[in-house]
Parts: sequence; structure tokens; C-alpha cells
Amino acid sequence: MTTPAATGSLWSATCAPLEPLPQLRAATRAEVAVIGAGYTGLSAALHVAAAGAAVVALEAAQLGDGGSGLNGGQVIAGLKHDPDLLAAHYGERIGSQLAARSAEAPDLVFDLIRRHSIECDAVRAGWLQLAASASQLPLLQRRAEQWRRRGADVAVLSDRDAAQLTGSTRYCGGWLDRRGGTVHPLAYVRGLARAAMSCGARIFTCSAAEKLSHSGGEWRVDTPRGSVVARTVILATDAYTDRSFDALRRTVVTVPSIQVATAPLPPDLRASILPGGQSVSDTKRLLCYFRLDAAGRVVLGTRGAFGDVPNPASTAAHERALREIFPALAGVPLEYRWGGFVALTRDGLPHLHELAPGLLAGLGYNGRGIAMATAMGRLLARRALGESAESLQFPVTPLQPIRLHGLSRLAARVTIRYLQVRDALEQGSRRPLHRSAA
Ligand SMILES: Cc1cc2nc3c(=O)[nH]c(=O)nc-3n(C[C@H](O)[C@H](O)[C@H](O)COP(=O)(O)OP(=O)(O)OC[C@H]3O[C@@H](n4cnc5c(N)ncnc54)[C@H](O)[C@@H]3O)c2cc1C
Repeated sequence: MTTPAATGSLWSATCAPLEPLPQLRAATRAEVAVIGAGYTGLSAALHVAAAGAAVVALEAAQLGDGGSGLNGGQVIAGLKHDPDLLAAHYGERIGSQLAARSAEAPDLVFDLIRRHSIECDAVRAGWLQLAASASQLPLLQRRAEQWRRRGADVAVLSDRDAAQLTGSTRYCGGWLDRRGGTVHPLAYVRGLARAAMSCGARIFTCSAAEKLSHSGGEWRVDTPRGSVVARTVILATDAYTDRSFDALRRTVVTVPSIQVATAPLPPDLRASILPGGQSVSDTKRLLCYFRLDAAGRVVLGTRGAFGDVPNPASTAAHERALREIFPALAGVPLEYRWGGFVALTRDGLPHLHELAPGLLAGLGYNGRGIAMATAMGRLLARRALGESAESLQFPVTPLQPIRLHGLSRLAARVTIRYLQVRDALEQGSRRPLHRSAA
């Protein structure tokens, strides 16, 4: 699978370098082998190593070449589905486990950043979810209320609150979730890697796991120039799962998400756009998400079309969205365009799988993986270290390969185009909400 502009992102241009990591060129042993070194794999490696067990992490490319180094950097609590719906659909026990694990996940991210002194421009000012049309406002108000009942620090916002917090009159209101925040996503990956290595983890790059075999109660992972034998293997490859793990690959549909970043804003604009440092997602059918980076650039993303290589033509929709949300940005040029793949699951939930004794996998964050993948890594580590599945308080589910998986990509492509058109039509018929941000 080709990654749209895996290099050339804002994040790779603005991240402190990581010392080069070696390729695996020997036969080695560990208690746990981790395949894939994004947030899931590195959090797993860190927690295994911190518990004193030997762990080797294998990355096919470079750290952060998957979603973890390319994303929007919005740390968000919660899953795609609201807590009441999770309880209604999966029963009170499973539903509340899913809600609770996702609710506490941002705490883990910011706690790891603090404990390991990870320099990644972390800001915990909250996450805004804003209604693009008045009909979506009651849904957001109910969402805020469900989380408030579960003890989360949230607030319902009017259109004027939204305008004050964002500097845009585009939105009808929404809610503020103070559990959320922002990070420099690639710096967070590299920081997790440093933290894991300082606890004793060994990390190898350019070391794709090509073959997995089992004998005598141990797993053997073969890479192009080496191998690892371990009691437990953790698959942490999310949207970048390749055909070496085909059954797992067929449990997710991958869709591209493309981002753009402006030049740093001049001081007057910077003071009026997102002055409190929150990040934002809206409720368009194809959601738009945006934030400022540490240098005051607006970073905005939305789903891309398949095969899009981010360039001025393929990011024209991003430019339109930027100008629509912030008309004052009309003269500010775009400096970066890049993208990556998001893994969607059939039920919209992340999954922890136990494929065989000693073979674990965690994936499927549906675009909300900074917090949840970090939390998943810790769950996988606990299981690999011998905790029972029940004590994880998170469902361990069987693989559910998507039927006609090849066609699901095509279906996703058609759906994305359809939703883009619906959003564009709705945008055309939308009347301005009010004129003043005051
Ligand atoms: C453009 C974009 C914007 C996003 N924005 C946000 C956001 O703002 N907030 C949020 O919470 N989430 C966001 N996400 C989602 C988030 O980035 C992912 O959910 C998260 O990074 C998943 O982490 P991971 O470690 O599971 O997978 P990844 O970071 O994708 O890591 C998987 C790794 O596995 C490696 N790999 C694959 N096969 C092999 C193999 N055979 N051997 C060894 N290594 C292998 C890959 O090279 C890759 O590095 C976004 C995603 C994208 C693409």
C-alpha cells in the first residue's frame, strides 16, 4: 500500500531527529516481540520493558511512517459511539468497559509524556466538537451530557461560545471536552521510542516481519536479515497491516486522510484563531478537523480520495474548507500537504484480538488512535505479561474478517465521494449563522 506523502509532512519537517535505529541483522530472543512501531507497538514495548521483561519491536519502515507520525495530533477521549449506545448495544458490562478505557486514555498519554519528559508540544486545553448545522446540535448536547454523567469535565457550547473559542462564525455550537489536547504526533512517537529504549526495549527499523511460525510453545518472526524467537508476539500494524497477516488485514478497511498546514499565522490572526489552544472536529458527513501547531500554523484535515497524492489540485477541498471556516486566512499560503491511512472497523470500535495462544493484536481506531492506541499498547503489554483476559476490563474479540474485503475499499471510495457531494450541497444551501465572533 502506498502512503500518500509519507515524507514531506509538517511533522517530519518540524521534529527533532531521532538517533538512527539499526536494522535487525541477527537471530535474537525476547520474551515479547512487537510487530509495528507506532503508538500501539511502542506503548506495548514501553510497558513490557518497564515491567522488566525483554522486548524487541520490529518496524518495517521508519518510526512514524504509519498513522502515528502523520496524524492530526488531536488527543481525543471516547470512541465513535456514545457511551449510552455502547451500553445499549453491547450490554452494561462491555459497554462501560469500552467507554471507561477510552475515557481514561488521554490521561495515559499526558502522564507518559510527563513521566518520560517527552518533548512533543503537548497542550491539554481540550477538544471541541462543533455542529456544522443546527440539526446536529442536539446530538452533541446529548453526547456531552452522557459524558458529564460519567464524571468527565465537559461543557455545552452555544454558537457564540464556539465563535469565541475558534474565531470562526461557521458553527452552531457544540461541546468542549477538557480531557483532550494536542501533541506533535511524530515527536510523541519518537519520545515513546526513547522511553521504551531507556527501559530496555530493543527497536529495529527497516525490519519487516515477513513470516510468523510457531513451534515448541514459541513464536518465530522472520525479517529480511534476522529473526526473533519470543513467547508472545503482538501485532500492532493497524491500517498498515500487509498481506503477511492477511486475516488481520481483512478486518479493517483503510481510507486515506489528507492534511494541509498553512504558513505560521501573523500575530493578529494568531490571537483570534483558536486562542485557547483547543483542537476541533466538526460534524460534517466527511468530518473536518483542525488545530494550531506550536508555530501558529493552522493544520486542517479531512478524508482524502483513494490514490490522492496530496498536491494543490487534490487539496482544493481543504483550501475551500479553510477559507470557509476562517475567511481571514485568504492570503495565507499553504506550506504542507500530506496524508496517511486510517483503519476503519465494521463496528466502528477498536479491537484487541487473541489470534492464538501468545499471539495478540490491537488495531482499528477509526481515526481516534493517539489516545486509544497508547491505551491499547498498555492492555496488550499486560496480557503479554500474563494477566488474564478478564482482568484487562476490555473485550477480547475473535477476528471478524470483512466479507468481500476487496470490494469494501471500492465501497468506501464511492461513499467518500457521495459524502463529499452531500456536504458540498449542504454547504451551498447553508445560511450564515451570525456575523460577529463577539
Ligand atoms: C492523516 C491522519 C490523521 C489522523 N488524525 C488523528 C488525530 O488527530 N487524532 C487521533 O487520535 N488519531 C488520528 N489518526 C489515527 C491515528 O494516527 C492512528 O489510529 C494511530 O496512529 C494508530 O497507531 P498504530 O501504532 O496502531 O499504527 P501505525 O502508527 O499506523 O503503526 C503501524 C506500523 O506498523 C508497521 N508495519 C506494518 N506491517 C509491518 C510488518 N510486517 N513488520 C513490521 N512493521 C510493520 C508500519 O510501517 C507502521 O509504522 C489519524 C490518522 C491519519 C492517517
